[in-house]
Amino acid sequence: VIKELIADASGDIDLADANIIISVGRGAKDEAGVELVKGLADDLGAGFGSSRAMVDKGFMAHSKQVGQTGKIVSPTLYMAIGISGAIQHLAGMGGSKVILAVNKDPEAPIFNVADYGIVGDLFEVVPILREEIKKAKSS
Ligand SMILES: Cc1cc2nc3c(=O)[nH]c(=O)nc-3n(C[C@H](O)[C@H](O)[C@H](O)COP(=O)(O)OP(=O)(O)OC[C@H]3O[C@@H](n4cnc5c(N)ncnc54)[C@H](O)[C@@H]3O)c2cc1C
Repeated sequence: VIKELIADASGDIDLADANIIISVGRGAKDEAGVELVKGLADDLGAGFGSSRAMVDKGFMAHSKQVGQTGKIVSPTLYMAIGISGAIQHLAGMGGSKVILAVNKDPEAPIFNVADYGIVGDLFEVVPILREEIKKAKSS
């Protein structure tokens, strides 16, 4: 249950300034998946980041890549959605205060660094999170 929303901005937020970053990985598959996860970022007024896999696929700009060959970020909350947690990705976000991961594979390495883990299909989990945020906003 979401108790409080820290930010309520929207638009394109620079990852360096973002208090919350939601990053999308290969698990989101395609443009529709990216849009779904971006919706969560928009709901929270969060920065929208990416693993390299989604940059290489052309779904995300390199300026949004988090990791060894991307941005080094340390937000209050980092949500890794459909990201395995490769060492090169961790190099960019390991300093985040709180890490939440959504991944359908319970063995995904991201769970080794996550403070909160949701094992599940992001196409089911993200809409539930968005619904909870909507409720929290209207209450
Ligand atoms: C020199 C070098 C530099 C690199 N620099 C970077 C860098 O800066 N940043 C970076 O990110 N990577 C970098 N990489 C690449 C890195 O090694 C990984 O390949 C990359 O991070 C993987 O991205 P990913 O986690 O999105 O994809 P994957 O590793 O393919 O993981 C996808 C994850 O999604 C999960 N998944 C699949 N479907 C679903 C679903 N429906 N619901 C929920 N979960 C699902 C899977 O279980 C899996 O864990 C670099 C690599 C090299 C060699």
